[in-house]
Amino acid sequence: MKIVSVKGMRDLLPADTAWFQRLEQAAREVFAAYNFDEIRTPIVEPTELFTRSVGEDTDIVGKEMYTFADRDGASLTLRPEATASVARAYVEHRLWDRPGLSKLYYMGPMFRRERPQKGRYRQFYQIGAEVLGGNAPVIDFELLAMLRLLLERCGIQDAELVLNSVGCADDRPAYHAALREALGARLPEMCADCQRRAQTNPLRVLDCKVPADQPIIATLPTLESFLDDKCREHFAQLRQLLDANGIAYRVDPRLVRGLDYYTSTAFEFQHGALGAQNALLGGGRYDGLTQALGAPAQAGGGIGFALGADRFVLAMQASGVVPSTGPVAVLVPLTDAELTLVLHLAEKLRREHIRVELAEPGRKLSRSLELASKLQARYAVIVGPDEAAASAVQLKDLNGGAQERVSGEALLDRLRQGVA
Ligand code: AMP
Repeated sequence: MKIVSVKGMRDLLPADTAWFQRLEQAAREVFAAYNFDEIRTPIVEPTELFTRSVGEDTDIVGKEMYTFADRDGASLTLRPEATASVARAYVEHRLWDRPGLSKLYYMGPMFRRERPQKGRYRQFYQIGAEVLGGNAPVIDFELLAMLRLLLERCGIQDAELVLNSVGCADDRPAYHAALREALGARLPEMCADCQRRAQTNPLRVLDCKVPADQPIIATLPTLESFLDDKCREHFAQLRQLLDANGIAYRVDPRLVRGLDYYTSTAFEFQHGALGAQNALLGGGRYDGLTQALGAPAQAGGGIGFALGADRFVLAMQASGVVPSTGPVAVLVPLTDAELTLVLHLAEKLRREHIRVELAEPGRKLSRSLELASKLQARYAVIVGPDEAAASAVQLKDLNGGAQERVSGEALLDRLRQGVA
């Protein structure tokens, strides 16, 4: 029987990885400019890390984790997200002892057993960043400004920043009480998850995606009037910074995030081209998470985001971005006799980061040219006995068809000009 990949987990073939690489490169450049460093944490973590930080009553922990017993009986889980892992590493290595904020980014696969559909997979890829060790509103602002730059560098147009403040531990009890009261009589009409959450964690009712529950959810009180002075002031300062720096946003007082650890600022960037899975990225502040994982108060607060790389790629495609794929040139030695010169030229170009492919020597020229166009190369560089004798090449532009003789010396500059 033929073996195929696991449901919801797919191969990323070269046509896909070209897009992922473009995104990853843009992300590394933008993160470096904002002085972030990379962290790589294990893909497998103790299950307890997620139950304690993401929260027992979330979809992720309740229904979606790939959890298994190790041979010694320890419960392990394939990471469903990476903020918990970064926070664990921050605590484990006492990173707050280092100077300044800890500004860390990561890239890699995450695993959630969700129902697969367009833009939603069981193994998907996230790129994220966390700033640990402080809670000033300007930190939140800089993270959002960085994301705006990243979206711009990826050529994604029309992404909308949606913002809310979800309050903190001090104002939650009063809000929960108000939610329970407002839900009151309507609760029996709602889905089983909402009924349970109304008891365990009513805030999570706002995150319910069941269509029939939405009209009821729309009538519930919002957090706004329950925010304490500290959270209110933090949100006001963040909004001021965004306004002063021309970053547009929409406040959605019902935006809550799918993980329990968020406090204060919560945000998403949404994109119309993604259909039901419209969240390109999401994040927020999580002051108190590292303390819940054993850090002292001086470890400070934290804020971060995770972007869905799979969805970013869909949005890049929808915005008309084209990744550069394929070789710049295919080098064609007409016979074996020209191979030495052609190999020498290829090496020289590759050392200068020019992507080139080699056609098989002795093949018919028409077949080599056909291959070059199929590979979407811009040029064919043809070397026959006459050219070899003069250390020259025939440079054929595969876009326009023009062909000219160029010296081996001048080839590098000509190719660079052509693709600039
Ligand atoms: P979260 O970790 O749930 O806050 O998600 C952050 C981002 O990851 C979302 O905005 C999505 O872009 C992406 N994401 C989450 N779950 C999936 C999934 N199952 N498949 C693809 N992307 C996902």
